[in-house]
Amino acid sequence: MQIVFFSTQAYDRESFLSQPALSDCELVFQQPKLTVDTAVLAAGAEVVCAFINDDLSAAVLEKLAAGGTRLIALRSAGYNHIDLEAAKRLALAVVHVPSYSPHAIAEHTIALILALNRHLNRAYNRTREGDFSLRGLTGFDLVNKTVGIIGTGQIGAAFARIMAGFGCRLLAYDPYPNPEVIALGAEYLPLEQLFPQAHIVSLHCPLSPATHHLINPQTLALMQKGSMLINTSRGALVDTPAVIEALKTGHLGHLGLDVYEEEADLFFSDLSDYPLQDDVLARLLTFPNVIITAHQAFLTREALAGIASTTLLNVAAWRRGQPQNLVQPG
Ligand code: NAD
Repeated sequence: MQIVFFSTQAYDRESFLSQPALSDCELVFQQPKLTVDTAVLAAGAEVVCAFINDDLSAAVLEKLAAGGTRLIALRSAGYNHIDLEAAKRLALAVVHVPSYSPHAIAEHTIALILALNRHLNRAYNRTREGDFSLRGLTGFDLVNKTVGIIGTGQIGAAFARIMAGFGCRLLAYDPYPNPEVIALGAEYLPLEQLFPQAHIVSLHCPLSPATHHLINPQTLALMQKGSMLINTSRGALVDTPAVIEALKTGHLGHLGLDVYEEEADLFFSDLSDYPLQDDVLARLLTFPNVIITAHQAFLTREALAGIASTTLLNVAAWRRGQPQNLVQPG
């Protein structure tokens, strides 16, 4: 049996090949993204392993199913990018990796907060140029600041634990409050009460119709002047042009992004030899108080090992006729 992997990088090959091999199973690593045009690379493969920016629309799933694919093994927690109704219609099973290392994403969120607050991007460049001045580098103590956590599942809870350690006051919003987060002292509030009180707002909820553009002109207006917004969840939670307006007026004080609504054609590729074609991203990159990383929050050795091991276990379980970590239409 063949598993064809799309959108692979060297670290994917390394982490999957370090796992115990599945018997009678060949792993084929393809570098291209999965699209209508590249789906042919999986012809004859029973299993396709896809990542977050692969195209899993009905048109692509139809091509895969016609080529003999029966299982889509997502090597991600999020599954907002797959047409689950089409998969069901085509009798394609879909599995995902619900948990690998929530710490990896929570800790990257902290890295963004600390780097933005203490202006590490500017300080790094300055000292390398022999400029040892401190002008414009004033930050704030995190202790006693209020942090608004939107989505308190595995990653939100890991993030809450770390922020509690900094001595922050925790506010949270989630339709299903997490007792562990309540035990840390967090207060669950409706969003319209959370936004005005938070010095830092961090997004840890999935992308869904209910959360699409959760950060928009109205919710930005509710936020404190000078506050910090962090999104390590999914790009489309944020209306980016609205955020740019808030940065231009100074209403938003800092922005840290690991995800971007239009990232699919940009992130994970070296485009440094070409003019950047995305004007919205280009504008974002001009602000000194914005740090963008290219969807790297998951990128720790532990998370990669967890993704590889669960994905292969998912395939093995499906093969035995006892599928685990199935994703079904909502
Ligand atoms: P999870 O399922 O454990 O938690 C998600 C939480 O969001 C749940 O508690 C759920 O009740 C809550 N939620 C659902 N709808 C909500 C809404 N409308 N408003 C507020 N909260 C809502 O998921 P997780 O493992 O904590 O992952 C969270 C998100 O992080 C994923 O959906 C994914 O988009 C993102 N993620 C990003 C990376 C990265 O590398 N940047 C890696 C993994 C996951």
